[in-house]
Amino acid sequence: MTLPKYLAATFQTLEIFFEISGKRAAKHCFLVKLTDVTIPNITIPIDMLPVDGRFGSGPTKVRPSALKALSGRATDYMGTSHRRTPVRLQVAELRNGIAELLRAPDGYEVVLGNGGATGFWDCATFSLIAERSHHLSFGEFSSKFAKGVAAAPHLCTPSVATSDHGTHPPLNSVDGVDSYCYPHNETSTGVMLNPIRVGDEGALMLVDATSAAGGLMFDGAATDAYYFAPQKAFAADGGLWIALMSPAAIERAERIAASHRWIPPTLNLKTAIDNSRKDQTYNTPALATIFLTSHTVNWFNANGGLAFSAGRCVQSAEHIYTWAESRDFASPFVYNESARSKVVATIDFDNSVSADVIYEVLLANGIVDTFGYRSLGRNQLRIGLFPAIDPSDIEALTNCLDYVVSALS
Ligand SMILES: *Cc1c(COP(=O)(O)O)cnc(C)c1O
Repeated sequence: MTLPKYLAATFQTLEIFFEISGKRAAKHCFLVKLTDVTIPNITIPIDMLPVDGRFGSGPTKVRPSALKALSGRATDYMGTSHRRTPVRLQVAELRNGIAELLRAPDGYEVVLGNGGATGFWDCATFSLIAERSHHLSFGEFSSKFAKGVAAAPHLCTPSVATSDHGTHPPLNSVDGVDSYCYPHNETSTGVMLNPIRVGDEGALMLVDATSAAGGLMFDGAATDAYYFAPQKAFAADGGLWIALMSPAAIERAERIAASHRWIPPTLNLKTAIDNSRKDQTYNTPALATIFLTSHTVNWFNANGGLAFSAGRCVQSAEHIYTWAESRDFASPFVYNESARSKVVATIDFDNSVSADVIYEVLLANGIVDTFGYRSLGRNQLRIGLFPAIDPSDIEALTNCLDYVVSALS
């Protein structure tokens, strides 16, 4: 019996076979708890706690004001047809708001559809990669996309550059490649990479910006599809993908759609482009997600756009990494400072203290989702620094960490 990862960390299976007269008669499977870590009863003083205890890396803190605003549209927007004016106006507001926020270069369009960022990988596999792609694979998300493309029977085996966790491979040109695929921020490890253009004339830069968009500065002209799902830096809910697409990417999608390639209708980007131009989606979207995303985008834009939203992440990042460097029990996991993510901080703890225990103590005090990415197998916490998370709450969190570590030692 194989246990799911989240159980395997704590439990092991013990299988016992019963035999009667030499014949197997029954099999019993027990779960045996590996470690009986008792979580110390530590109460963080209330005035030290952050105002909001959500520090996850996705889904992330949704602002209560956005949810309140959504409930204000309980009867004229929620539960109405996505083909009619109220919803189409909301989609138009979202598309315009994203274009403004990301400073869309001339001719770029905001396209959206269902399926989240993972769904967009499949769209790209069917509708953007012509023959062969090059991938940077350096964590859970970037490796998943590369694996998906490698399994696609209609494409050539992709070129894949890998590197150790906590680093990223260099972004180099590769011969005979028509699409370059890499994340702006690898959410699992907290490594970021500034999007730039490489490769032959006409090669597309497909940038996974799921945890980066809205939280990191970038140059849109260096990308052809800057795509994301809104449950991270946009403080909304999941289910949707949104892509800022260049004229070259739109042209590629149209050319592939007109070719002999079979494309499942939900993964046909030409269909998504045509629908988006009418402020619709091919099939029914989550209206709440559209509203919440739009609400956050408007908040960003009303306060100065990307400089404002990314500025909040810079402030939080500066604080948490300076804190980690100044404590002898903690250090930033990502060694190279320029690759240290400003939206997701991975903080290593030394052997004197268990990150799992800290995580449990924080949880008992209402501070959620600070667990590290399991597959890294490190004594680590991972902390979302997204724009909706108040930089003052990141300060409160480090005060809480100091308090917990001192109470544990
Ligand atoms: C969260 C995440 C995804 C997956 O997003 P879904 O909406 O769950 O499909 C993909 N890429 C990155 C970089 C992410 O952070």
